[in-house]
Amino acid sequence: MSVIGYDIGNVSCYTAIARQGGIETVANEFSDRNTPAIVSLTTKERAIGSAAKSQIVSNYKNTISNFKRLIGRPFEDEYVQNLIPTLPYKVVKVPSTGGAGVQVLYCGEQTVFSIEQVFGMLLTKLKTIAEVNLKKPVQDCVVSVPSFYTDTERRSLYSATRIAGLNCLRLFNDTTAVALAYGIYKQDLPVPEEKPRIVVFVDIGHSAMQVAAVAFNKGKLKVLGTTFDPYLGGRDFDRIMVEHFATEFKGKYRIDVKTNKRAELRLFTECEKLKKQLSSNSGNMTLNIECLMDDKDVRGSMNRSDFEELCSSLIKRVEVPLQQILVDCKLKNEDIYAVEIIGGATRMPFVKQTIHKVFKKEASTTLNADEAVARGCALQCAMLSPTFKVRDFTVLECCPYSVTLLWKAPMEDDGEMEIFPVHHQAPFSKMLTFYRKEHFAIQAKYTDPKALNYPSSDIGTFLINNVAPTKEGEGSKIKVKVRINIHGIFAITQASLVEKIEEVAAVNGDEPMETEDAAKAPQQNGDQENQNNESPMETQDSGRAKEEKAKKDEEKSVQDETMNEKQEEAPTNGSKEEMETNANQNRSEDKNSKEKLPEKEVKKKKNKIKTISLPIASESFMQIHEKELEGMFEMEGKMIMNDKQECEKAEVRNAVEEYVYDMRGKLYEKYEKYITEDDRSSFTLTLEDTENWLYEEGEDERKQVYIDKLASLKAFGDPIVKRFTEAQTRPAAFDQLGSAL
Ligand code: ATP
Ligand code: MG
Repeated sequence: MSVIGYDIGNVSCYTAIARQGGIETVANEFSDRNTPAIVSLTTKERAIGSAAKSQIVSNYKNTISNFKRLIGRPFEDEYVQNLIPTLPYKVVKVPSTGGAGVQVLYCGEQTVFSIEQVFGMLLTKLKTIAEVNLKKPVQDCVVSVPSFYTDTERRSLYSATRIAGLNCLRLFNDTTAVALAYGIYKQDLPVPEEKPRIVVFVDIGHSAMQVAAVAFNKGKLKVLGTTFDPYLGGRDFDRIMVEHFATEFKGKYRIDVKTNKRAELRLFTECEKLKKQLSSNSGNMTLNIECLMDDKDVRGSMNRSDFEELCSSLIKRVEVPLQQILVDCKLKNEDIYAVEIIGGATRMPFVKQTIHKVFKKEASTTLNADEAVARGCALQCAMLSPTFKVRDFTVLECCPYSVTLLWKAPMEDDGEMEIFPVHHQAPFSKMLTFYRKEHFAIQAKYTDPKALNYPSSDIGTFLINNVAPTKEGEGSKIKVKVRINIHGIFAITQASLVEKIEEVAAVNGDEPMETEDAAKAPQQNGDQENQNNESPMETQDSGRAKEEKAKKDEEKSVQDETMNEKQEEAPTNGSKEEMETNANQNRSEDKNSKEKLPEKEVKKKKNKIKTISLPIASESFMQIHEKELEGMFEMEGKMIMNDKQECEKAEVRNAVEEYVYDMRGKLYEKYEKYITEDDRSSFTLTLEDTENWLYEEGEDERKQVYIDKLASLKAFGDPIVKRFTEAQTRPAAFDQLGSAL
């Protein structure tokens, strides 16, 4: 069992782990806690994270960065199409899902990787970082996700975790993770009976802006609402600066960086640096790039007010989600205890000013702006894992968008019902009842396409199979459980046919008149992977306790909703009346049998309820099918093996190289007396030949070739070293012997 939280940013990723001492953000192989979200493919292997950073300009066609905004979106999406020209690598359509992929040169071949695979590669890297720090293999984790992600985007990211061989216990909204990291340590939260403490969290990262209003009480947080601008982040400010200097340099230096990807990428990097400098300096800051293009050195400058004027349209947009959260959650400024900011782009001074303007309070920076999301994810993972004891803290998430169900009704108008309104609590299950004679489909979609920031409101279609009419030829009662699960993904998790069986039995006062079969067999299709994760099979006691508590919570929520069902329910073929009629019939039968309470020997008819689980076949929007996912997982495994082999090969190759340099020098220094002149000349020649070979035909050999090469060199060199060491140790041994005598 591992307890890990990953914050996957558009530019920076953080890994937090739980150890006995608490939550810790850990560093990568470059001793950096921030691992860049970059994947670089080369002719031999992959470089991921910090190692890929240097390739951004030199190997730009095969180095993938800024890919977070692509995941789970159709290739044809207008937003994706507008993004493509700004990316230095080739984006293509993946035929099986219709989503975006990248076409790169990997190991000498043009290869297409879906964006889920690219995310999988990044997650593989982050997994290794956790493994190195924890010194054991890891699997269980919680991964951050923007609160505005739709079902499809969430599914895509979840698939990526599976490609990397991770067991994602929860896709956790960025701002909720931050709220958890904020609230769990607070000792002075109001008790449940008191008015909650309301805190607004603002995260502006590289790609997006997210806001959440969260109500805290002792041991509990409840997300009241979320607002966002998915297309507003630090990168958009960089882009405006790039455009500005590109135009300036056209006139000033007669160069067009837009025609030269390398130059444009270098300008991007420098503009980002300049933007950061302007956060701490209001005066003129300069930008110098040597040999940017056509052997020309360039120079530009900007001060903070120029920058803010240039980016005024973006700055105005920051205010919108801030105002919106007040409206959506019906909050007044005096209701808000604090506004906490995180994310790199909140370091721009105007962000704090805008917050002050909207909320009439200073922005608070009590949290670590870069690491809070990962830490919150690790905390959540610890809470879901049986291996750690964490203070009880309930996290009530909310739905970012309203969900509607649609179905065909054979006898009347087709049905439609808003099942989870916007800001509805999540995770949450609801039970619905249908009356059907044969299999039927339920379609799920987002209610308001305009609220989405996504090109399709389609979530998926769920086919309830094996439905048969009652013996009397009527529609059977079908109970369907719909759920927004722990990842924020919609699913129909269960369907069952409720059959009433009339039995003749002896009367026994203690026996219930109607029994519902409690055993619920798992569905055959649908959201199985999520189900597994939602109730991880653990053997440890605390694990079981957590699981039972989770189940109870869920059952409670189902029951609560079932009670509401009467007002909400419409879906029958079926009308509400028909359902109620049936219910009345049952009741009167029961009543009759009670009235006729017979003598002991009299037999009576009883109703027994039998519940038959029905298979559900689901097809969600842009779904990656299980077989395909398995293929991607296998491919990732092969690439990991290849990287490992390449890494080992590089190590032994380096060992040969090191031996050559080391020996060649020493043959004329400390080993001089321990080798004949002839042997020294011939060994020196062998070493020189080996060096040349390493840079020519021996540059890319199998690992074993280097091992053999080193062994043959050592066969000659080791006796020399031995003679030298003996000569060094003998006098000392004689001295020791002398003093002993
Ligand atoms: P996202 O959450 O949008 O996926 P991310 O988590 O990778 O992205 P962060 O690491 O929170 O993003 O923020 C990175 C952004 O913050 C970059 O655009 C970076 O230039 C910007 N940034 C970092 N420090 C500063 C600073 N001092 N001034 C201005 N901008 C900054
Ligand atoms: Mg972020």
